[in-house]
Amino acid sequence: MIYHSTRNKKEKADSKEAILKGLCDDGGLFVSDRLREVSLDLNEISGLSYKETAKKIFSLLLDDYTEEELTAAVESAYTGSFDTESITPLSSIGDDFLLELYHGPTCAFKDVALQMLPQLMSKALKGSGKKILIVTATSGDTGKAALEGFRDVDDIGIIVFYPYKKVSDIQYLQMATQKGKNVEVCAINGNFDDAQSGVKRLFSSNACKKLSASGISLSSANSINIGRLVPQTVYYFESYKRLCHENIIKPGDEVDFCVPTGNFGDVLAGYYAKLMGLPVHSLIVASNENNVLTDFLTTGVYDRNREFRKTISPSMDILISSNLERMLYYISGGDCDLISELMKNLSETGRYEISPELLSKVQEIFKSGYANDRETKEAIRRAYNDTGRLIDPHTAVGYKVMRENKTEGIPCVLLSTASPYKFCRDVYEAIFDEKEKDSAGKDGFYYMEKLSEGTGTAAPESLRSLKSKPVIRKDLIDIEDMGGYILKKAHEDMIF
Ligand SMILES: *Cc1c(COP(=O)(O)O)cnc(C)c1O
Repeated sequence: MIYHSTRNKKEKADSKEAILKGLCDDGGLFVSDRLREVSLDLNEISGLSYKETAKKIFSLLLDDYTEEELTAAVESAYTGSFDTESITPLSSIGDDFLLELYHGPTCAFKDVALQMLPQLMSKALKGSGKKILIVTATSGDTGKAALEGFRDVDDIGIIVFYPYKKVSDIQYLQMATQKGKNVEVCAINGNFDDAQSGVKRLFSSNACKKLSASGISLSSANSINIGRLVPQTVYYFESYKRLCHENIIKPGDEVDFCVPTGNFGDVLAGYYAKLMGLPVHSLIVASNENNVLTDFLTTGVYDRNREFRKTISPSMDILISSNLERMLYYISGGDCDLISELMKNLSETGRYEISPELLSKVQEIFKSGYANDRETKEAIRRAYNDTGRLIDPHTAVGYKVMRENKTEGIPCVLLSTASPYKFCRDVYEAIFDEKEKDSAGKDGFYYMEKLSEGTGTAAPESLRSLKSKPVIRKDLIDIEDMGGYILKKAHEDMIF
């Protein structure tokens, strides 16, 4: 399997190189033209466990890893880190299905990929004498999932920056209590955008050059890395298998998937599964009020020139869905010139447009819709009252959009991307319609308890136990000091 850039076929890499680099030199994303030729026999995986299916898929898509390397990576990633043996259980929500992707250490779907990526990176580094320092800015969720995935992994260190006092109290505690000898967590004076631009600048800073001279390269582990994408294809196959086992469908029958979407990574993995032979009928792309994708999938015009909206589904507050570039590459039949032109337009004008012919190809597979905050809360309430299921705001966006777009007569699987207990206040208020008059001073744990009492369900242990964990990460710096901070940590404090 040879990977190359979506924007030119000359820049080549095997999967280990692609995983270590993340992004191509020309700014494009790594893709492989062999994806369509790889196919997974559903009968062959029918009796396999989650880990075995994962190994099978990794050995097809990341074929320069040895079997031993993949076995070790899968075992480290998925043993003891999820609170269920099946990793991603499938359950019912009314007449539809919920693929529960929130059973990992941080209670959100990014765990599935971020438990695996560090293992793949570490194996790719072995024997090279090189080390990697991951630096990431987070608005709350991704950073924690990355910390959990990278902690105590050989030859890799991780530093996460978050905006001081601008993450929720639960998110703050998740990070401030983080254990691990190779991890650092640091607040910065500024907002999330400041943190993110600060991290971007680090990649061309003097600090980066100095680290590089001592054999440490910076990396970001973001969602365009194929090492994050590939692990996400696994649960599409897993959920299909379970529908077969429960006689909901027969092997070969088509299924719809509805995916709450931000950067287009999760839903792209569903498209990869389809290209690998999974009988997917439609992929329903669900957005919140930052509905740039709904507009694109309806009109063929991608236009990020619009107001950024803060919503109650913050992990989907995104105006540039980077992974869309990969879908356009495959659906255009591998037209690098077209992709280069579109992405040039996007960076210069914030806008691009595809032809009506290409749009109709896209629409054969991708459907779309969106929910605003009011509709999202309504969907949380409705799911609870009609089906007894407690869902988080991201999943609720999907629930609303699924009901409007699913295909008659075809089972639909809704990807549930976070535990409702990660967003207990909004979920509690949506169901019980009780705006607390004096909510000031009430913290996340207060609502965790209220939600638990009100619904007779238990909050995940990893969130409940935060209350009693010691805060061990207290660093706070100015943006200008980020370069000095990573140098000091990498050279003095951190044990690689
Ligand atoms: C990241 C995230 C999403 C969006 O996934 P993409 O791969 O960026 O489309 C949806 N829900 C939750 C809870 C997330 O953390």
